[in-house]
Amino acid sequence: MQPAALLHPRPEGLYTPKADLYIDPVRPVARALITHGHSDHARAGHGAVLATPETLAIMAARYGADFAGSTQALRYGEAVSIGGARFSLHPAGHVLGSAQAAVECEGTRVVVSGDYKRQPDPTCPPLEVVACDVFITEATFALPVFTHPSAEHEVRKLLASVAMFPERAHLVGAYALGKAQRVMATLRACGWDKPIHAHGALLALTKLYQEHGIDLGDVQPIVDAPKSHYAGAIVLCPPGALQTPWARRFPDPVSCFASGWMRIRARARQRGVELPLVVSDHADWPDLQRTIKDTGAGEIWITHGEADALAHWCASEGLKAKALHLVGYGDEEAEPGAAA
Ligand SMILES: [Zn+2]
Ligand SMILES: [Zn+2]
Repeated sequence: MQPAALLHPRPEGLYTPKADLYIDPVRPVARALITHGHSDHARAGHGAVLATPETLAIMAARYGADFAGSTQALRYGEAVSIGGARFSLHPAGHVLGSAQAAVECEGTRVVVSGDYKRQPDPTCPPLEVVACDVFITEATFALPVFTHPSAEHEVRKLLASVAMFPERAHLVGAYALGKAQRVMATLRACGWDKPIHAHGALLALTKLYQEHGIDLGDVQPIVDAPKSHYAGAIVLCPPGALQTPWARRFPDPVSCFASGWMRIRARARQRGVELPLVVSDHADWPDLQRTIKDTGAGEIWITHGEADALAHWCASEGLKAKALHLVGYGDEEAEPGAAA
């Protein structure tokens, strides 16, 4: 079967005609498969939703229990047949519950990666390489400038700053789904055993991670207290809260931001970030290339991001590549609150 007959882009999203199913549709549809809970991929209002149990729980936490007409949970490695097409989900290493979707029919397999990374993340299982004929990838950080250091390396920079400025609070901007919990877990792995303070907007999803067995230690809500209460504290908040009156309750706060974009110094400066932390939940340039090679796919379709650069690299490797120019997929790391 031709891959394009199995799966092709439509304005709503990637579409499988055999199953009348869209993957990560940006508009309400009758049947959707959702790769992960970030708001540009997981939207409310679909008829039937197929996703991992964790992603369904995240969607219910964000949108309410009635976010879809009906839901079906599919665990990693399990498969379901719909209209003659076989669907299975495999870890993407991006956030809790994040999955790549493999779609198969008549010996042709297409893998939709959703968002993914290869760096270790204590809050979700690592990406599983799934051999396929066509690999559909994002290209958020598909430029040679983007090489992400380890999260531990960046968190140790934060801890060194906390040790150097014990009278100040460190405010770490981090997205509410995934990044915040990864920073918390990495702080624990690096030996930080004091409480971690979290802005109210991070609490619900942090609790959800803890309920799924992710050990984040003592996470405390922000309380009304004299500034001195937060001397030497590490406080996580949505990136959008960094430069607001909310931040002024803390003693001489050090503004930190955990994002792959912090690799670009000008971005950090623009946002008034004093301590940029290059922590990304997306694959960097070398890991995009490694993953494409690992899948053994002869054809690469690129959903969004730096599609031209990645397509050019694919061509240099003798791979067929095509930019799909899908719209509606933001990059949750790009804008404050975009995937809050
Ligand atoms: Zn995402
Ligand atoms: Zn995304």
